Amino acid sequence: METGGNSLTSGADAVKRKVCYFYDPEVGNYYYGQGHPMKPHRMRMTHCLLAHYGLLQHMQVVKPFPAKDRDLCRFHADDYVNFLRTVTPESQQDNLQQLKRFNVGEDCPVFDGLYNFCQTYAGGSVGGALKLNHGLCDIAINWSGGLHHAKKCEASGFCYVNDIVLAILELLKMHQRVLYVDIDIHHGDGVEEAFYTTDRVMTVSFHKFGDYFPGTGDICDIGYSKGKYYALNVPLDDGIDDWSYQYLFKPIIRKVMEVFNPGAVVLQCGADSLSGDRLGCFNLSIKGHGECVKFMRSFNVPLLLLGGGGYTIRNVARCWCYETGVALGMEIDNKMPQHEYYEYFGPEYTLHVSPSNMENKNTRPLLEAIRTKLLDNLSKLPHSPSVQFQERPPDTELPEADEDQDDADERWNSDSDMDIDEDRKLIPRRVRREVTGPNMKNPEVQKGKVEQARGSVTAETGVDVSPMYIDEPTA
Ligand SMILES: [Zn+2]
Repeated sequence: METGGNSLTSGADAVKRKVCYFYDPEVGNYYYGQGHPMKPHRMRMTHCLLAHYGLLQHMQVVKPFPAKDRDLCRFHADDYVNFLRTVTPESQQDNLQQLKRFNVGEDCPVFDGLYNFCQTYAGGSVGGALKLNHGLCDIAINWSGGLHHAKKCEASGFCYVNDIVLAILELLKMHQRVLYVDIDIHHGDGVEEAFYTTDRVMTVSFHKFGDYFPGTGDICDIGYSKGKYYALNVPLDDGIDDWSYQYLFKPIIRKVMEVFNPGAVVLQCGADSLSGDRLGCFNLSIKGHGECVKFMRSFNVPLLLLGGGGYTIRNVARCWCYETGVALGMEIDNKMPQHEYYEYFGPEYTLHVSPSNMENKNTRPLLEAIRTKLLDNLSKLPHSPSVQFQERPPDTELPEADEDQDDADERWNSDSDMDIDEDRKLIPRRVRREVTGPNMKNPEVQKGKVEQARGSVTAETGVDVSPMYIDEPTA
C-alpha cells in the first residue's frame, strides 16, 4: 500500500490534534425495529470501546444540543420536518399519503423517538461544524451522523435528515470552500444532490456502482452549471481490497486538495465498506478504511469525521474506535480490553480482523482507467475558484428552553463527565442582532427567506450557497 504523505505537510502527521467528540448516551436506545439492519446501538458499543481503550480522556467529550426545527429547515422542507416531528408509530396509518410522499415506512420506518433521534444526530454534526468554525478543535467527531441519503423532502436509505448537508452549510459560513469525501459503500447521493450546482462544495464519493442502492454515482456525473467538475464519483466493484482502494483514494484526494484547497473537510466514514458487512460487498480491512482518515488528517485542515452505514455492528465499533485513535494520533492495542460488550467480539477479541479471500472484481486496467479519467477531470478545474465576498451570516442560533425543546435541560446530567455543547449555547447570542443571511428570528420572514433561497439555485433539490462569505473580524 502506498504510505507516503502528501504535498502539504512534512511529518505533520505526528502532530497532536485537538479532538472534540460528540456523543449522546441516549442514542443507543433508538430502535428501527425488529430485523432492521440499522442499529443505533453500534454507537454505544463504539463509545464503550473508546472508554475502555482510555481514549475519552484525550479529547473533549461533548453531548450535542439537539438540532431544532429551524436548524433542520435550513435544508429540509418545512412540511417534511413538520411530518417527522409529529408522526408516531401509532398515528402513521392515519396518513398513508404522507408516508408515501416522504418515503417513510419500510427502509425508513417510523419508530419511537424518531424525531429526537434526528435532532440528536444532526445536533452533533452541526455542533461539530461550529466547534471547527470557532477554532475550538482541529477534528470534530460525530459517529451518530453521516446519514448521507436523506433528501430535502424525503427519507431514503435509513436516513431521515441530512446532518451532513446541515454541517456543510454551517462550515460555509466560515469557509470559502468545503470538501466532502464519502467512503461509505453507498453513493453519497443526498449530499451530492444538495451541492450539485455550486463550486463552493466539492463532493467526492467512493462507492459500489452497478445494480446497487441508491443507483446513482456514475463516473460521468460531474456536477452542473457552476458546479461542473465539483462532483466526483468513483464507481467500484465487488471485493475491492485495501491496496486497490488506496490506489485511487490517495492520488485523487491529493489532487483535490491541491486544486480545490478547501478551508474545511467533512469525511463520511460509513463502515459498510468493510469486509464482511451484512449489506456490503467490499473487502477493506479496518486499517485500510482508517488509512483514509489518516490521509485526510495529514493535510491539517479542519476536519469533521462522521459515521454512516455499517451493518455488522461489531466491526463498525472496531472501525470507529480505531479511527478515533487515528484522529488522536494514538496507536491502540489490538488486544481488546474487557468491557460490557466484550462477548460481541469473539472468537478473536481483537480490534482488527482479517479481510476475506473473496475475489476482487476491480482489475488493474479498470482502476487505472478510473484514476486517469478522474485526475483528468480535476485538471480542468481552475486552482481555488475565485469568489465574491459578502458578510458572513450568523451562526446557527442557540437552542433555548422553549416550546419545541422540551427535554433539552433535563437530559443534562450534572454528574456526567461530559461537557455540554457550550458553543451552541453561548455563541449565537452574540449574533442575534445581525440581520444578514438566512437567519431565523422572525418565523414569517424566515419562511419567506428560506423559500427564496431554496428557489434560487437548484430549484427543487439543492440549497443556495452561491454567495461567498468571509469571517467577521475577530476582536
Ligand atoms: Zn452505506
